[in-house]
Amino acid sequence: MSAGFDVAVVGAGIFGVTAALELARRGRSVVLLDQGEIPHPDAASTDISKVIRLEYGADAFYMELMEEALAGWRALDAPAGAPLFHETGFAILSSTAMAAGSFELESFTLLGQRGHRVDRLDEAEIHRRFPAWRRGAYVDGYHNPAGGWAESGAIVRRFLSDARAAGVTVRERAGVMGLADRAGAVVGVETSAGRVEADAVVVACGAWTTTLVPELAEGLSVVGQPVLHFAPADPAPFRAPRLIPWAADIARTGWYGFCANADDVVKVANHGPGVRVDPRGPRRLPDGTEERFRAFLRGALPGLADAPRVGSRLCLYSESVDGDPWITRVPGRDGLVVAAGGSGHGFKLAPLLGGLVADAVDGRVTRFGARFAWREVGGRRFEAARFGGEGGGEGG
Ligand SMILES: Cc1cc2nc3c(=O)[nH]c(=O)nc-3n(C[C@H](O)[C@H](O)[C@H](O)COP(=O)(O)OP(=O)(O)OC[C@H]3O[C@@H](n4cnc5c(N)ncnc54)[C@H](O)[C@@H]3O)c2cc1C
Repeated sequence: MSAGFDVAVVGAGIFGVTAALELARRGRSVVLLDQGEIPHPDAASTDISKVIRLEYGADAFYMELMEEALAGWRALDAPAGAPLFHETGFAILSSTAMAAGSFELESFTLLGQRGHRVDRLDEAEIHRRFPAWRRGAYVDGYHNPAGGWAESGAIVRRFLSDARAAGVTVRERAGVMGLADRAGAVVGVETSAGRVEADAVVVACGAWTTTLVPELAEGLSVVGQPVLHFAPADPAPFRAPRLIPWAADIARTGWYGFCANADDVVKVANHGPGVRVDPRGPRRLPDGTEERFRAFLRGALPGLADAPRVGSRLCLYSESVDGDPWITRVPGRDGLVVAAGGSGHGFKLAPLLGGLVADAVDGRVTRFGARFAWREVGGRRFEAARFGGEGGGEGG
């Protein structure tokens, strides 16, 4: 029993802040440390929005997980009139008939099999419901009334204040430089202000995780993905329900995006091969990114193609080799738990993340947790938990 805390949580993105809150609710003394202000501007969790959806192709494990998480999002009480989760529904659009084996059709099929009512859309119905789309650009797809989007940065702030209220000690601008070992066990963390002792340490550092847990160098990589924010002069066509969070030929092209938020800003993003970057290095969008986005918009959402760009970021995936997060004790490192590898789809799991991490600290492996436990790399390949398909991927 150290003189310090029961648990030190390193990293206050969505994985770390939900873990700290849940551990405190389970009666632990917890310190939450982040290298910068919280939400950290470079954290993947820090943005204006993230997609919350049930869609995971034919992967029933994730759809079931998201059915539970969605209940948590719906139960998230928010100050009157200021919800942080917006259940606008989610739209999957396809420029051709949804093909057998495609992420789009497998999601549609599994949703139906699991009793979810979704409306299949043809070209005319896409135009009637969502007129901002170029007529005829998309001829098949469906509208799922379940799901929508969450104000991600605001959600981190919200959970941070809940964590403080639950007794968590929060230390901002307290970068962890290394783990403190004693006789082979991890007994705390080293910061520039000295050692912080704890009986257990959770490393939830997103794209930075392998700097503290090199054992995961094979299991995690860092990939930068572009995100642009547009402010259309006339935002009305882009406000829900006339536009809702969407994925357009996502498995093939990687395009996805949102409706206008309260500031009438519309976020558009693409998941492609991305760029390999060092998380400690500069974040620069690849040349030609804006032109590429506007070319897509010209063919798909023409009303947005010439809108002023009011924001951009190169957001980093903590990309797991098999697409599944790592929420697990680290073998051979007593006292060490890692919680990372959101792989571009982790934010929506927020209502369940804290419990999954706290269970790992407690050495409890649950039905869901088993998939995120320590495993041999080189097993299932990456596509399993994604939108499938080639170039496109998995944003959102
Ligand atoms: C472009 C993009 C789009 C996405 N879209 C979606 C979406 O629509 N829906 C969805 O569900 N998911 C989405 N995701 C995935 C989701 O954002 C992530 O899975 C999730 O936010 C990861 O959270 P995290 O806590 O692991 O990491 P982060 O949010 O990156 O947090 C890590 C924290 O650790 C801190 N840290 C790092 N090193 C140290 C250190 N040494 N000492 C102290 N602190 C440290 C950092 O400052 C940071 O605050 C997207 C991701 C990206 C990049």
